[in-house]
Amino acid sequence: MTPVRWRSYAGVLLLVGCRNLLPAGAPSSAVDAPAQMPPEIQNSSNFPVVSAAVISPSDRALSLALASAVRVRGLPSRRAFGSEHVDRTRMGAIVRKELAAIPQEAIRNEATEQKLLSLVAPAADYEEMVVGMVSAQVAGLYSPLARTLYVVDDDPRGSPEEHALLVHEMVHALQDEHFDLGERVRWRAESTDQTAAAHALAEGDATLAMLLDGGGHRELSDRFIADFTTGMMETNRQILEGKVPRSIADSLVSPYVDGMRFVWRLYVRGGWDAVNAAWRDPPVTTEQLLHHGKYVTHEGPVPLVGDPVGPKDFSLASAHTVGELDVRDWLGAFVACEVAESHAGAWENGRMELFARGDERALRMRIRWDADAGPTAQRLARHLEKSFQMRFGRPRPSALFHCVERPNVGPLAWAASPRELVVLAGPASFSGGQLPTSGSSCASLRSWAERAIPLP
Ligand SMILES: [Zn+2]
Repeated sequence: MTPVRWRSYAGVLLLVGCRNLLPAGAPSSAVDAPAQMPPEIQNSSNFPVVSAAVISPSDRALSLALASAVRVRGLPSRRAFGSEHVDRTRMGAIVRKELAAIPQEAIRNEATEQKLLSLVAPAADYEEMVVGMVSAQVAGLYSPLARTLYVVDDDPRGSPEEHALLVHEMVHALQDEHFDLGERVRWRAESTDQTAAAHALAEGDATLAMLLDGGGHRELSDRFIADFTTGMMETNRQILEGKVPRSIADSLVSPYVDGMRFVWRLYVRGGWDAVNAAWRDPPVTTEQLLHHGKYVTHEGPVPLVGDPVGPKDFSLASAHTVGELDVRDWLGAFVACEVAESHAGAWENGRMELFARGDERALRMRIRWDADAGPTAQRLARHLEKSFQMRFGRPRPSALFHCVERPNVGPLAWAASPRELVVLAGPASFSGGQLPTSGSSCASLRSWAERAIPLP
């Protein structure tokens, strides 16, 4: 699982969006209606079963949308897919069903990691928080497993919004038919970063197709895409402010934001042929997604050396990659966005290790920086120290590491060398449904830190 929750869900819940993300005051004429925003992230409408092969004449809205998707995306539709319009309660049930493809233990581990990293509150019901956010926000969803589109029955039929939503979802069906979308976004314990990159490619592709269908490319420009994606992120933050932590809110729209930016760069250079080529040779990390040059040169992650090191008598419960997007989101919870973005950009690789002993859990996170990252790690460590001090009190002095003590989830320690940032958290006791507790301290963490911090 990713340490930064949402993407592990998003891989399965792909194609989910939230409502009303159009930035307030955004000119609706920037492109012709209905093409201001991803259709999944606006109120949607209902539609009956459609199949690429069989659309009855009465399904006019569906026929039009499919014709638009095929025309604008330049891909034929030969494989049937279903569709269903549902009320919000039923959509909640569909969201839960889609999530059932992820092992419960993986979701529990992710929740534990989020709490140990202080990204969500110790008392939060993490799974319910995420599922609740999605169920409340989603307008449409395409399930590769069911080969079916689901659309929430919120808007009048035949509206421009409904058309845009249908085009977007049908492009996902085309992606599934031509590029095996379902397999590419299937949840895998070890490749959540790669899945996040594929998910963003899918959302960027479908969103761009929708925009082109609505407005034609005459109106689209670098400036428009930049404003559009920034506005989406900011509006989403406003909507979810105070409801979920910002890192979780951001992860809901980052597949659209980062995916649009990535796909737009391909499209302006080589049209849909370039996007199709990216499906055959997709970005394998979110670093490649975020830095086009690294995608072009196929710069892969440099393997992280060293075995997992947990507290004494703990065993490894799970381990997974921490991608650049994960790092950006984690840092964004503690330091200014620009600081998070610029430092995350020095990502070379990252690793999360979660350890267990009975109900107790502890984690070690390592973030390895590029060789030419300069003083990134030390500078970042100072930013983090300031932020942690504000939230948890003055760090305990130690030559080896910095450490703060937190209620419920125990100590949080970190240390930086020029090439690496290491974070240790816990141990704390997580027994089902109850507030975590910890009897650990910065002092008791020392013997683990001496083994776990691979610094000179
Ligand atoms: Zn989508």
